[in-house]
Amino acid sequence: MKRLILSLFSLFLAGNIRAQITRCAADSKLAHNADLQELIHRKIEEFKSEKFRRSAVPDLIRIPVVVHIIHNNASGSISGSNISDEQVRSQIEVLNEDYRRMPGTPGYNVNPVGADMQIEFFLANIDAEGHPTTGINRVYSSRRSFSVLSETKTISDLSYWDSNKYLNIWVVTIGGSYLGYAEFPIGDFDGLETTDIDERIDGVFIDYRAFGRKTGSAESPYAYGRTTTHEVGHWLGLIHTWGDTRCGTDYCDDTPPAEGSNNTVVCMPVFSTCRGVTTRNMIENYMDYTVDSCMNIFTQDQKNRVRAILEISKRRQNLLANVDLFEPVSEPLVLKVLGNPVEGSSLDCKVLVNSAQDYKIEVFDDLGRILFSEEYRNSLSRVVHIPKSRIGSGMRHLRLTAKSGRINHRIVSL
Ligand SMILES: [Zn+2]
Repeated sequence: MKRLILSLFSLFLAGNIRAQITRCAADSKLAHNADLQELIHRKIEEFKSEKFRRSAVPDLIRIPVVVHIIHNNASGSISGSNISDEQVRSQIEVLNEDYRRMPGTPGYNVNPVGADMQIEFFLANIDAEGHPTTGINRVYSSRRSFSVLSETKTISDLSYWDSNKYLNIWVVTIGGSYLGYAEFPIGDFDGLETTDIDERIDGVFIDYRAFGRKTGSAESPYAYGRTTTHEVGHWLGLIHTWGDTRCGTDYCDDTPPAEGSNNTVVCMPVFSTCRGVTTRNMIENYMDYTVDSCMNIFTQDQKNRVRAILEISKRRQNLLANVDLFEPVSEPLVLKVLGNPVEGSSLDCKVLVNSAQDYKIEVFDDLGRILFSEEYRNSLSRVVHIPKSRIGSGMRHLRLTAKSGRINHRIVSL
């Protein structure tokens, strides 16, 4: 069964005035998957325990981002849907302010349940082929607009980087009345027999008029970058504060129940009566539908939920495991062995360098005979997979040689 979560920001145009009616038409199947909710709940409990605190998810999570600008500007000049680098960078700033609850920015709040999500985003500095990049990829298409209901694969076919390594953000002209769309990290969980979503559409899709902060094509009242903050929240596994049904649950205890989405544009208090109790809706939550200027909070339970999901989503785990390929390293040369003894079909290691250089990977046996050798010219950091068939079984010696030094590791190949 294909599990696809739609997160759609609706947009209504009346002449030049954008009258917002419904911001997001999400169909959170995730909210109704009892097995998955049980698994996430268990993970959240573990997260709060000592065991989880020693988990593979680091305290501060850094996520490499590629922004694909799918534009309709045949000349390639920076205008219209071919938004500027500055506009892209303004969006990355907003993400970091919001996900770090950064003091002195619109992403800060003084709510006792407000959380620093401890997630940061940065434009990737190495592309899918291992070459230096700005993390911004511009692609011309003769198409004027795309449907995010039926054409996400069409968009991805124009430009896509491995979603096991990057958060793909596609900035496009979205047809109809929508501002954005996101894929949830579902379908690839341990212990659940769900069909994975196509990894090529795993990312977020944002209309170019709702991307970035008060720059270029960003249009009020969605000009503060919160469409992307909201959609990335879905990409991390968060669901809407009202649980996509009247007085539903988002599985977070510190977001009050709500009768439905809030579409206020003036940020005035709104109240709900659910199960006989009246409470103020958290209209400032990024996972509500209010306009950008009302939003400023993720809660502690939302943070716990994201942490739990990052622990059980294989593709998100892959992304976190690959992040050091994109981070500058302090030493000129680092060699990390991924799994020793070697049990699978390959010996995998990471070469991390602080600048492009020539390097060589070799494997020797105990008698000093070369079993494997491969050279990389003017290369950046990479993962190297050495087939088990080349190195056989026994004690092996892995060697990385570059101008800046030489590193040896002793390997047991089973
Ligand atoms: Zn949504």
